[in-house]
Amino acid sequence: MTDGTTARGSARKVAAKSGRTASTGTAKSATAKSGTAKSGTAKSGTAKSVTAKSATAKSATAKSATAKSATAKSAKPRAARGRAHRKSLPPAPPAVAYQRLLAAYPDAHCELDFQSPFQLLVATILSAQCTDVRVNMVTPALFAAYPDANALAAARQEDVETLIHSTGFFRSKARNLIGMATALVERHGGQVPAGMDELVQLPGVGRKTANVILGNAFGKNEGVVVDTHVQRVTGRLGLSHGTDAVKIERELMAEFPRDDWTMLSHLMIFHGRRVCIARQPRCAGCTLNDICPSAPIFLART
Ligand code: SF4
Repeated sequence: MTDGTTARGSARKVAAKSGRTASTGTAKSATAKSGTAKSGTAKSGTAKSVTAKSATAKSATAKSATAKSATAKSAKPRAARGRAHRKSLPPAPPAVAYQRLLAAYPDAHCELDFQSPFQLLVATILSAQCTDVRVNMVTPALFAAYPDANALAAARQEDVETLIHSTGFFRSKARNLIGMATALVERHGGQVPAGMDELVQLPGVGRKTANVILGNAFGKNEGVVVDTHVQRVTGRLGLSHGTDAVKIERELMAEFPRDDWTMLSHLMIFHGRRVCIARQPRCAGCTLNDICPSAPIFLART
């Protein structure tokens, strides 16, 4: 809003200047014509008048073009300008970023409460569009009512909906939880499988959820969990590009050693929740601010 106002103001100033210049040119022209009548140097006076008008017109055109260019620049959204600027800077060195975040959050871990792969799978399905804190408030009663896949597979949809209501999207989540439990009973003897291919076949389970289960319940680094925090922080660090989670995961898997994949997502999530927050990242106190391509952009706004 501020940019647009400035641009409009500049455009008005340019228009005003242009108007003044044109008047001056006309006056000069009149003088030249008058001089012509008296001295008889008509051709010379007319030529000067034409030249003056032409110069004034060129000047006005140039100023108008400058104003248009300024308007176009200001009209480009600030976020887009920030992304373009960030792309022009080198990304944070992955190994340095990882080590610094590890030093800052040595106990980074999955913040969902669970005691078995089944409980983690249930909690992760519930965490979609919901905070881990909220999920952790709901799961104790849910796990008490349905301690395993057999119990949850036999649950009534309304009863599950009531227990998970506060996590949002409770109807589809309840449907997915019962469907997932039923699939575990029918295909895997009631146990959570430890493979990506089997996990992503379960209702309500995508690659992100499967990565959470494999990394935290089975200690397997099959991929990198890309949630909203990982996407935002790695994007600001110049380590990932775009908004496609699968593409971002591929980029991160190429930049970091496999052994670090599970911890990498914990570190990015911890940092994204505490320092590199969505609206106003705390760059001044960030351990990465000297290597982060976004730091100069955000620091300039404060
Ligand atoms: S808080 Fe600022 S300096 Fe730190 S990673 Fe985020 S954008 Fe970069």
